[in-house]
Amino acid sequence: MKKTYLLTPGPTPIPESVQAEFAKPIIHHRTPEFEKVFASVRIQLKTLFQTKQEVLTLAATGTGAMDAAFVNVCSPGDTVITLNAGKFGERWTKIAEAYGVKAIEIKVEPGESISPTQVEEAIKKYPNARGVFFQASETSTGVKLPVKAIVDLCKQNNILSIVDAITACGVFELPMDAWNIDVLITGSQKALMIPPGLAFIALSDHAWKIASTAKLPKYYFDLHKELKMQVKNQTAWTPAISLIQGLEHALDIMLEDGLEPNFKRHDILAEATRAGAKALGLELLAKKESDSSTAVTAVRVPGSVKDGKQIPKLMREKYGVIITGGQEELEGKIFRLSHFGYCGAFDITTGLSALEMVLRELGHKVSPGAGVAAAISIIEKRGLFT
Ligand SMILES: *Cc1c(COP(=O)(O)O)cnc(C)c1O
Repeated sequence: MKKTYLLTPGPTPIPESVQAEFAKPIIHHRTPEFEKVFASVRIQLKTLFQTKQEVLTLAATGTGAMDAAFVNVCSPGDTVITLNAGKFGERWTKIAEAYGVKAIEIKVEPGESISPTQVEEAIKKYPNARGVFFQASETSTGVKLPVKAIVDLCKQNNILSIVDAITACGVFELPMDAWNIDVLITGSQKALMIPPGLAFIALSDHAWKIASTAKLPKYYFDLHKELKMQVKNQTAWTPAISLIQGLEHALDIMLEDGLEPNFKRHDILAEATRAGAKALGLELLAKKESDSSTAVTAVRVPGSVKDGKQIPKLMREKYGVIITGGQEELEGKIFRLSHFGYCGAFDITTGLSALEMVLRELGHKVSPGAGVAAAISIIEKRGLFT
């Protein structure tokens, strides 16, 4: 027998009591019993998004909500601005291309964030762009984007801001209404601590107005149809009933003490992980540490390790600690330690101890415990348990 530990940026670990919800007998969705659950979920989701708008629940993965956002605000002939700081930013461009919409893409090197100045220049050049589509946290590189500054620019220029917050919502501060975000998206298997299969999307008044005239074809993801049903505690199509039951419980746990303790915990765990990696003589992929996402830390494979793909492989196969490597051009060059959702101090130290063992095996000299010691020192200093 080998115990396994899931330290990936989706799916993330599921609390035991939430897992137990999925063993319950199925209920029918056109019943008062379901409506009661959904009514509670609707209120909790508004708290999570920090919005007065309706947060729509879709039976899809996060990409489904990205698709829904796109088809509900765009029309044929539109131009959009997409921010590509990694694989998920690139996905916005690919969605635009799939619908024949012209995408002006701002692309940066992996590990770099995107500056408001770059966005401002693009908006000046394309003042009629429908919107700026971007990530709050680019999961493929562990970098944050300056959401507030970008949203402010969009507002000043009267164009929409569409924010993929799939590894940001519930991880760090992202108040939809206070920051004037037009479209905010998240997914279930990330910070929400349930399995994949649900996606969430909320639109501002401005975005709903644009949506009422947007002409891209849509059927399943017609958000007006969903809105009409969801305000009545129903969904347009059969909802993912069991996932919604689990979600109610997961949100209870997550929001028990409010959002702030979640943001603080993620911030401490991220700093501890970065300190641990640096103490092992490793470099972060994020060019500026202040740009690091507090959901996931991307670390460069050290020169002393010949085959970088061996790091996540050995961690998983030999030690049962599941982390992710890099995707496409970053394959073999980085690995990613995730620390959000149902994750605490001892998930971080477990990940770092397995990493220390693997690095030693692969020829990178580290003294055992050095990464863990650095992480614990941050956890104590910042009072995670006080
Ligand atoms: C995971 C993720 C997605 C994609 O979500 P799926 O659930 O795989 O469709 C999109 N954007 C970001 C930032 C993500 O982390």
